[in-house]
Amino acid sequence: MIEIRHHTFGQPIIILEFDDSQEVIIYNDKLDSIFNHPEIQDRKVVILSLIGAFRGGKSFFLDYCLRFLYAHFPSINNPNKVTSFIFKKDDTWMGEPDEPLTGFSWRSGTKRDTTGIIMWSDVFLHTIDRTGEKIAIFVMDTQGLFDNDSTAESNSKIFALGTLIPSIQVLNIKGIIQENQLEYLQFATEYAINSAMDIVNKKAFQSLTFLMRDWDNNDEYKYGIDGGSQYLKQLLKPRRNENKKLQSVRKSLSSSFDQTRCCLLPHPGRVVASNGTYDGSWFEMDVDFKNELKSSIEDMLISTNMVIKKINSKEVTGKEMKDYIQKYFEIFQSSNTMRVLNIYESTVELYMNNIIEKCLNDYKLRMFENKDLIGNDNNIVHDSCKAKGLEMYDKQRKIGSLEYQKSCKTILFKKIDGIYEEFETFAEHEEQLKAALDKELQEKEELK
Ligand code: GDP
Ligand code: MG
Repeated sequence: MIEIRHHTFGQPIIILEFDDSQEVIIYNDKLDSIFNHPEIQDRKVVILSLIGAFRGGKSFFLDYCLRFLYAHFPSINNPNKVTSFIFKKDDTWMGEPDEPLTGFSWRSGTKRDTTGIIMWSDVFLHTIDRTGEKIAIFVMDTQGLFDNDSTAESNSKIFALGTLIPSIQVLNIKGIIQENQLEYLQFATEYAINSAMDIVNKKAFQSLTFLMRDWDNNDEYKYGIDGGSQYLKQLLKPRRNENKKLQSVRKSLSSSFDQTRCCLLPHPGRVVASNGTYDGSWFEMDVDFKNELKSSIEDMLISTNMVIKKINSKEVTGKEMKDYIQKYFEIFQSSNTMRVLNIYESTVELYMNNIIEKCLNDYKLRMFENKDLIGNDNNIVHDSCKAKGLEMYDKQRKIGSLEYQKSCKTILFKKIDGIYEEFETFAEHEEQLKAALDKELQEKEELK
């Protein structure tokens, strides 16, 4: 038996799960350790995630994605093994033919996983040749969806989070697309439509791939990406006399994602699908499946197809992403009935607070630079620094209702004045101090 060479550098980490009474438990410390790692916090992020019904081969697929990533990119826990991205056209990245599959736990048994979101603890590092931009690549798994024990509520929460968090979202579907899966997807993307009102001509989410498993209609639509895109085209084509629900799903999909893709995978063969002792190695897969698995992963993860995560059209860093995820989690934890608007509102709030902070810092910095003048021409310095700070605010791209944007400007206004008051009392104190010192000196003088 060949030694396991992959995946010894990381482990699955649960960041959110539902307990037996379907309460959300979040692990902020885990989230923090993954996203706030010093090497990652300032990098732009790429997040790959698979979502779909349980026992659909999601974790299995992701573990082969991990093999691809380990073979092509350095990572936090394995920084020296690979130094730069060189795409290996052959199948060496898939590992030895009989290498057991490790990584996210995948199973051939029937034991139920808890419902939740799991991140791979190791994070891949990449520098884009073209731009020199440094990015961090995260892998996220979801589990326990649509099994007998999960409720509609936990399903919709996981589904919405699985849409909000990744930049590369993969919807794993076994057999045919079921309507309830699309409904969940639509529900999650309604958030996008809400926010899209502010972002003219910009889509809220980035990449959605339908990954069709056990595809058995190879005559009509060929396996792989090409057959997939033809299938998707006819699936999303509006039809006469169809029900309203499907119509609106179609509309929301195309208005929410920058790109939608589809990939058709054949049935993996009897051993993979049913053998309880199967260890995940690729030599036991049907050869068609193995080839399509390989090319679909290559297509998804080749560096030119990396999609950097954007929120409200702005690329986010690891640190920022952590804040957003934490905010989303809190909302999902506190609300019984999902309110899509909640998420939208708090995203706007977080985004606008960052702008206020930025302008406030600009003001402070200018005041500090002119601190020698403070005390003499306080008002003039303050007025000009304040004007610059507000000018900066006007130049930022803002989101939220116009009313809310106005109220943010008022907040900035007040905050600046508040800081100015501090400056002033400081100056006053200085006067008093000086007066006291002078008095003291004078008294000493008199005593002599
Ligand atoms: P998950 O619950 O979606 O994460 O599913 P797992 O990755 O744990 O896999 C569940 C079972 O499906 C395992 O026994 C795999 O061997 C098997 N499996 C993996 N890929 C496929 C596939 O494409 N088709 C079928 N029918 N089974 C698969
Ligand atoms: Mg799984």
